[in-house]
Amino acid sequence: MDKVKELQKIKEDMEADKKLPLVSKPEDVIPGDGNPDAKIVFIGEAGGYHESVQRKPFVGQAGQLLNRGLKAIGLAREEVYITNMVKTRPPENRDPLPEELAAYSKYLDRELEVIQPKMIVTLGRFSMGKFLPGEKISGIHGKKFMIKWHGKDMIVVPMYHPAAALRNGNVMQEFRKDFFNLPNILKEVNKPVIKQMNLI
Ligand code: URA
Repeated sequence: MDKVKELQKIKEDMEADKKLPLVSKPEDVIPGDGNPDAKIVFIGEAGGYHESVQRKPFVGQAGQLLNRGLKAIGLAREEVYITNMVKTRPPENRDPLPEELAAYSKYLDRELEVIQPKMIVTLGRFSMGKFLPGEKISGIHGKKFMIKWHGKDMIVVPMYHPAAALRNGNVMQEFRKDFFNLPNILKEVNKPVIKQMNLI
């Protein structure tokens, strides 16, 4: 499969989807960004002003914090894939509505199907809710969850949203702690699977 082409097709399908909320012209769509072969996918909430201008997720202040975090743990932004639950900018940056999350969900599923990441890091409660419904972020942030996603094993690590960290010093401390622990979780992901054999 040509992953670049597949991701481009997802972008074009969103741009052409007349039923997608918050899209009045194709340029309103903010497609996911990064390495199509990424082992880690970061999933935020929705674009803001800067994201809607540059048509790229996490390029404003929250994105700069994310970039600094990645750099601090030795990952280039180009190595990972970054996307949002809702791939546009809601008016006045309000929270996405349930029907908006539902409408964009199939496009996120398609992105994950193409990329096949080993690990998903959810940023904030909306993306956490997709993989770990009913959980509270304050109780589970930074922890590693093994889930089956469309039949495949995947690790999900819920984290606070970087914008929440920028607003609150305590959340920032937790965000930093969780970020610095990501390499430990990643090591597990990268360990080769040793097959059990019956040597009789
Ligand atoms: N917040 C998000 O959730 N996503 C972005 O792309 C930018 C800010």
